[in-house]
Amino acid sequence: MSKLITRIAPDVGWLPISFANVYFIGRPGGKWIVVDSGLPGRAREIMEAAEARFGAGSRPEAIVLTHGHTDHVGSALALAKGWDVSVYAHRLEMPYLTGKSPYPPADPTVGGAIAFLSRFFPTQSHDLSEHLHQLQPGQVPGAPDWKWIATPGHSPGHISLFRSSDRALLAGDALATMNMDSWSGLFTGRQRLARAGAPFTMDWEATRWSLQELANLRPNVIGCGHGIPMYDAELSERLEVFAQRFRAPRHGRYVQRPARTNENGVVDLPPAPFDPVPLATAASLVLVGIALGAGYLDDEKRR
Ligand SMILES: [Zn+2]
Ligand SMILES: [Zn+2]
Repeated sequence: MSKLITRIAPDVGWLPISFANVYFIGRPGGKWIVVDSGLPGRAREIMEAAEARFGAGSRPEAIVLTHGHTDHVGSALALAKGWDVSVYAHRLEMPYLTGKSPYPPADPTVGGAIAFLSRFFPTQSHDLSEHLHQLQPGQVPGAPDWKWIATPGHSPGHISLFRSSDRALLAGDALATMNMDSWSGLFTGRQRLARAGAPFTMDWEATRWSLQELANLRPNVIGCGHGIPMYDAELSERLEVFAQRFRAPRHGRYVQRPARTNENGVVDLPPAPFDPVPLATAASLVLVGIALGAGYLDDEKRR
């Protein structure tokens, strides 16, 4: 049976694909778009879920990427081909979506569960050139009542999507609605505002600035790349507090100075830190963790 898309606003759907979220904007019978595309190899799952919501043979107007990390872009090429549809991303993400440059390397020394696991995440390059387009200022293709906002920091061309009429926010990895830094947070998926993918964040000052921009929007609904979307009466106040208290980690490769990038990709990196964790120890711990947690993540995270 195909997975079902959960509605988080009347025309905003959420589909968790393992630990990464895909969103759908639009109503059945009308135009709709896909925001982010999940891990690699999950296109069929996403297409089946979309078909169940929007009808057989229905295809989106566009696939919009918040950024180009593998957990957001993994199935984009297969989806673009399958639906024959264009993929849109910010200009500064282009080098990582065309195979021109790798992202700044992940920083496993930044601390926390996801940083520990990042040692084992494959660095995969993606070439979406055939289907890829730059986002035009402000406009979200196929979703005219939404606008995109540059929220750099986690990645250079990271964007968030916002609709002012109901103050719905899709924030990608500008933040998360689960604690990815703790093992219990990762495995239970318990809702809370938290930083997203710390080992993959390449500019902490920009991340903090972007978070404040999002808090200023006073969103009613927040759907992030990771975690169960949140919508409650005090959400905007909590985001404001979270943004004000947000600090860079105590240590890490990109804490003192960010990775420098431009429209061609990586320009300059802080030196690689010493990583004291022996890989074999880490690998065995990860296998135990996966055995304990993987099934839970896939099946129990949904409400
Ligand atoms: Zn990311
Ligand atoms: Zn992510």
